[in-house]
Amino acid sequence: MDKKIAVKKPEVKKVKTIKDYYTLGKWKKYTQYKCILCPFDSLDEKSIIDHINERHVPKPPKPKVEVQLFDRFNRPVIKKDK
Ligand SMILES: [Zn+2]
Repeated sequence: MDKKIAVKKPEVKKVKTIKDYYTLGKWKKYTQYKCILCPFDSLDEKSIIDHINERHVPKPPKPKVEVQLFDRFNRPVIKKDK
């Protein structure tokens, strides 16, 4: 008796890497790197990585600097949102 056991693969959380942003193709004898987000393609892997880094990789937002205001009694002024 040969019982097949169905093995459930654990779901792997996919982390986006730079390689998820382009696909590989062939152009003549070369490997062609195609951006999946725009029509850009290149035969040079470094170019496509640079392109993706420049154009498509979200950059971390700049931290917002909140300036704390004080009133004339040196109490912090709390902005009231309507
Ligand atoms: Zn692109």
